[in-house]
Amino acid sequence: MELISRPEAKKRELTHYFTGKFCKYGHISKRFISTCKCFDCGLAETAKYSLHITDPEKNRIRIQEWRDKNPERAREVSRIGQKKYQKTTKGQLRKFCKRASIRLSSGKSYKSKRSLLDYSPEEFENYLIEGTEFSSIAEAMMSGYHLDHIVPISYISEIIEDKDLQFRIAMDLENLRLIPAEENFKKGNRIDFPEVVEVASYLSNKYKIPLNISNK
Ligand SMILES: [Zn+2]
Repeated sequence: MELISRPEAKKRELTHYFTGKFCKYGHISKRFISTCKCFDCGLAETAKYSLHITDPEKNRIRIQEWRDKNPERAREVSRIGQKKYQKTTKGQLRKFCKRASIRLSSGKSYKSKRSLLDYSPEEFENYLIEGTEFSSIAEAMMSGYHLDHIVPISYISEIIEDKDLQFRIAMDLENLRLIPAEENFKKGNRIDFPEVVEVASYLSNKYKIPLNISNK
């Protein structure tokens, strides 16, 4: 990420600036011009809040109980859901592209970068829900799951300069998974988990970039 002071970023009409210094909670992250607040602190607060208002485990049980009690209605809903799912599959990919793009970019406008990806919305969804109990990403989200970038976006943006490449790596299917919000919150931007090291090494080979964490 480019180092840019608050006054300079203001002059350029950006929404964030970046000093490269730690916030008091140990993030190295861009900050909002308006509040000087650290971006990763903001994410953590949002995650905490969503945990506070929803209990994913309870929600899952509640949905399953309802299904067991109303088998016919559940089948009907899932049939209607199939149609909606066609629409929301695209919507989900758009949403996560936008999020990744916002977190990677210090520019003021969001431009869709979806054309940089080598998979379709359907492939995106199928990859993520394979092996889970969910029939769509939307359903997983409703059950309190988050999309996790296994190698964190903050790390990718530190190591890689090219904006398009940052985005392709952040949104590479191998770098994505659905995990419970709570787990995602605990993981945060830590890179010392085995799966992070493993995926970083895979991406490092695929894109010929020095993302290999063990070499750092
Ligand atoms: Zn912070």
